[in-house]
Amino acid sequence: MIQKCIFCGKEYHIDDIIYTCRCGGLLEIVYDYEEIKDKVSKESLRKREIGVWRYLEYLPVENLEKIVSLQEGGTPLYRCKNLGEELGLKELYVKNEGANPTGSFKDRGMTVGVTKAEELGIDVVGCASTGNTSASLAAYSARAGKKCIVLLPGGKVALGKLAQAMFYGAKVVQIRGNFDEALEMVRKLAEDGKLYLLNSINPFRLEGQKTIGFEICDQLNWKVPDRIIVPVGNAGNISAIWKGFKEFKETGIIEDLPKMTGIQAEGAKPIVDAFKRNSRSIVPVENPETIATAIRIGNPVNYPKALDAIYSSGGYAESVSDREITEAQKLLARKEGIFVEPASAASIAGLMKLLEMGIIDKDERIVCVTTGNGLKDPDAAIRASERPIEIECDMEILKSIIEKI
Ligand SMILES: *Cc1c(COP(=O)(O)O)cnc(C)c1O
Ligand SMILES: [Zn+2]
Repeated sequence: MIQKCIFCGKEYHIDDIIYTCRCGGLLEIVYDYEEIKDKVSKESLRKREIGVWRYLEYLPVENLEKIVSLQEGGTPLYRCKNLGEELGLKELYVKNEGANPTGSFKDRGMTVGVTKAEELGIDVVGCASTGNTSASLAAYSARAGKKCIVLLPGGKVALGKLAQAMFYGAKVVQIRGNFDEALEMVRKLAEDGKLYLLNSINPFRLEGQKTIGFEICDQLNWKVPDRIIVPVGNAGNISAIWKGFKEFKETGIIEDLPKMTGIQAEGAKPIVDAFKRNSRSIVPVENPETIATAIRIGNPVNYPKALDAIYSSGGYAESVSDREITEAQKLLARKEGIFVEPASAASIAGLMKLLEMGIIDKDERIVCVTTGNGLKDPDAAIRASERPIEIECDMEILKSIIEKI
């Protein structure tokens, strides 16, 4: 097990705290896949409880006693017949990551990332966040007895996420700036050795997140979807999920790979722009803006990995408007009983748009990843809903109402 630069190929020891290669390239964790192949089988995996740690051999942890866990992963994969029918689709699923302990997929990354901090003997952890990373890191660092500092873009974090970060006891710092600026600042602190950085630039975090891909195969009885649709912000998750599928193929668990399809918001779509230019580099968006605050990111650090995932899987990248996001969020709640935050609904909105454009075939087996829980952003939900009716305690009025629903 080593850390390897995806750009120049330079290798680093698994315990080097570097985040990126000396050449500036992103790092990824590489395993001895022959060894994993010898150790695991579909049957042996199934003997363990579902969740991130079911896939232990694929995770960069040496000392199992150090694991910091809140029983993350094992989230439902819902077959969505109602929404599927509405859209004319044969086989639609939603992988609902909002069911994680702090309500987003970030928990999968944090269980591995904070465990790594524990193995390294580091006491102070930190991150920049649009909200969910801070909520998750605050929880896992509390569980591990570590100090935690989180930098947030002031005034742009959904209420539920802010409440979580504060309540788990993190030192919460709001900057008068956006996420990209917050990340730049906290990266400098990490370079000076002031804290262990747990943004998705940290390759250990992505190792936890790749288990979304493992679980989807597992829950589909080892069938592989034709397409995975993921909302894209800092672009770590789509990269991680792709790595998961590739590793399952490499170790003989599956034979096919899905088309990775990334969805961004119209006001924050540097990766979509790069894809439409058929380019491998992005032009950062200066002032990203969208209702989907979790993907309000103009300069995604993981873009090289994400573009590679999209290109090499034959996938696609598309953007959706805030209105399309809100409509999709409502539709998913009303057709399937699944309440997700706006960023998550971007995957559904993207699906609808790509169907209309003829990019997605109605016969495909499709999994949309809904990344965070709807309760994270109550303001967005209330703004998009009809007000409650207020009445006197009068049965006649109540009866007239029930007649009209
Ligand atoms: C973090 C997050 C995203 C974006 O994931 P990236 O790995 O940054 O692309 C999307 N949706 C939600 C709810 C998130 O919390
Ligand atoms: Zn390098």
